[in-house]
Amino acid sequence: MKKQLLGAAAALVLAACSQPEAVEPEAETAASNTSSIEVAEVNPIPGDDALRQAIREDYANYLQPLYEHFHANPELSFMEVETAARLAEELRALGFEVTEGVGQTGVVAVMRNGEGPTLMLRADMDGLPVPENSGVSYASQATGLNRFGEEQPIMHACAHDTHMTALVGAARQLVEMTDEWSGTLVLIGQPAEEVGLGAVAMLEDGLYDRFPVPDFNVSFHTFAATPVGQITYHPGYAMANVDTVDIYVQGRGGHGAYPHTTKDPIYLGAQIVVALQGLMSREISPLEPGVVTVGAFNAGLKHNIISDEAHLQLTVRSYSDETREHLLSGIRRIAEAQAASYGLRPDEYPRVEIEEVYTPALYNNPELSARAVAAMRTRFGIDAVSEVQPIMGGEDFSQYHRTEENIPTFMFWVGGTTQERLDQFTADGIAIPSNHSPLFAPNDPAETISQAAEAMTAITLDLLAVEQES
Ligand SMILES: [Zn+2]
Ligand SMILES: [Zn+2]
Repeated sequence: MKKQLLGAAAALVLAACSQPEAVEPEAETAASNTSSIEVAEVNPIPGDDALRQAIREDYANYLQPLYEHFHANPELSFMEVETAARLAEELRALGFEVTEGVGQTGVVAVMRNGEGPTLMLRADMDGLPVPENSGVSYASQATGLNRFGEEQPIMHACAHDTHMTALVGAARQLVEMTDEWSGTLVLIGQPAEEVGLGAVAMLEDGLYDRFPVPDFNVSFHTFAATPVGQITYHPGYAMANVDTVDIYVQGRGGHGAYPHTTKDPIYLGAQIVVALQGLMSREISPLEPGVVTVGAFNAGLKHNIISDEAHLQLTVRSYSDETREHLLSGIRRIAEAQAASYGLRPDEYPRVEIEEVYTPALYNNPELSARAVAAMRTRFGIDAVSEVQPIMGGEDFSQYHRTEENIPTFMFWVGGTTQERLDQFTADGIAIPSNHSPLFAPNDPAETISQAAEAMTAITLDLLAVEQES
């Protein structure tokens, strides 16, 4: 049972927020060339711009130790007690009205600054059960309990520490610039992104009832495979629905020498694995994305014994609700039909269990994406902010727009590894350590965090621009 729980937790870790699929440079270029967002030529602000300068100085004097503190002291999903307390303390000191314990360990910080729209900026706070091997001097040596009470190594292998630090960095600028924006800022520290449960926990705990309802939601994720200095995004569906499915195939065991006296669950399971591939290739339009992956197939004990059951573990990815429904119902239909064709009775059909809580697809509102991208390109230049292909990873930031309020949402990706280092890995023929790898920590965090803080500040100044009042 314990093993099963661990397995489920591990599967969720893989399902959540991970962005393992590096976008091919060619795809990036192709996507940029056919960008669906039209942005006028802009002149990037020179490097000695006051805001940029202020963030760089603040990084050196203040944000760097804060980042290294977060990095060295990671906590697991829904266990982010010290992390949340520190984030709350930082934002309270800036004059935000801070509420802790929202959705277990979540933090909500509100600043009302006159008339105008409400903007929510979100950072996630949890680390992963990964032993750090990144080689940075402030590497985590932490171990701690997960929410099931099991002791595990912990690391900010998904760079959520950069998200929190950049959020504080942006907040520290915005409180100095209150005459340059008007409206309400809601900054949240979200727990448990890695298990896909934190956003829902905050919403169910009244995020949109107890606090100002946002007109816009914005967040970013540091991405290991993107070069430092680069920001990428995709308008529309950007990240996938992530579903976890278990198929328990029942059989009738017996001696391997007399298969005709048995119902072999390995044979049946294999038929199911193959038939499932017809879902995407023959039932869904070739223009619609989707994945059905059987990631685990466990059965049997010995060469000459036909076992009683087999267990298949699947991850199912899609963008649209319709495709998701088709795939999930199709998995059940195929599993049962294969069993029927093998002569099993209906009461012996495979048991198909679909995890109730899933990570829905992340939809970047096109209009909000265009505004945010324009604000970022104005600061960083067109070449530094590129449209890329959507990815089949998942991210529970999507939950914030899937409520009756239907709030426009935008998430962008910030480079976490320098081009030199990416080139070195390529030259050495070594795979680039991705988010969730024990080897991954941003190797130029000053640049990654400063750029992210500047981007968040720029987007806020645009969305809450003073002239919007009139
Ligand atoms: Zn993440
Ligand atoms: Zn992650």
